[in-house]
Amino acid sequence: MAPVSPGKKMARETVREPSMSSTPHYVLAQGDGPLVISIPHVGGAIPDDLRNRYTSSALELEDTDWHLDRVYAFAEQLGATVIAATVSRYVIDLNRPATGESLYPGMISTSLCPTETFRGAPLYVEGREPDAEEVERRIGHYWRPYHIALKAELARLRDRHPHVLLWEAHSIASCLPRLFHGKLNDFNFGTSDGQSCDPEVAAGAVGAVRGSRWSWVLNGRFKGGFITRRYGEPAAGVHAVQLEMSQELYMDETPPFAWRAEQAARIVPLVRAAVEGALTAVRGLTAPRPEALLAG
Ligand SMILES: [Zn+2]
Repeated sequence: MAPVSPGKKMARETVREPSMSSTPHYVLAQGDGPLVISIPHVGGAIPDDLRNRYTSSALELEDTDWHLDRVYAFAEQLGATVIAATVSRYVIDLNRPATGESLYPGMISTSLCPTETFRGAPLYVEGREPDAEEVERRIGHYWRPYHIALKAELARLRDRHPHVLLWEAHSIASCLPRLFHGKLNDFNFGTSDGQSCDPEVAAGAVGAVRGSRWSWVLNGRFKGGFITRRYGEPAAGVHAVQLEMSQELYMDETPPFAWRAEQAARIVPLVRAAVEGALTAVRGLTAPRPEALLAG
């Protein structure tokens, strides 16, 4: 299956901005449980008006978090709210601050509107890179609506539940020498070095893979991106956990990036168990102090 694209029937609701592009920016499926699953890099759309800026190899979209809508298809059974990008991270990265600051100062990491692939190949035809004005337009058109919706969903669920889990769903190629040494662990949990969730919630997630045959790390190379850091606020009842999963676990890492059903069948239950472990911990927490309100 291709990354999430307009028309996929994952969502019960598709959100568009009035006028402008016919490409929906994200899909939203609302549930009532204390769980939001955000999938900001699964989008596979390059809007028509931007396509001719990109190189033909860029249009293979190799850095997509492929098939995560399929991995997380269990979400509805957990009463989760799912928000997933439909636009490619090559247009704008929803998991970077709109200010463009680096998530990992001093290290190579990808930017808000990247101009290179993870492997360093140019994304744009020479001279067609986005200028500051175009970056601003993309923030307003694609970045901001996703964040407005995500924030609104967290607030809606926080009204109903004393604590809510925000699960940031990601996957990445197992070997990317520019970004990390050697081979990535299979499961990379990030909680912003313990700041984005209660320790019990992190323990609940990790518990699903601890002792399994799969390798894992908590707050290793991937500590949680902008969304985890921005919205995880345990004192206000929002607990964010990022899972960066090695793509080798469930798909071919070369074009056409095919889903591997047999491998995925072994991995999806583990992913589900990790989400459920964290969710159980969230449900078990006592209510936050009434003065601790969800930050604006
Ligand atoms: Zn990602």
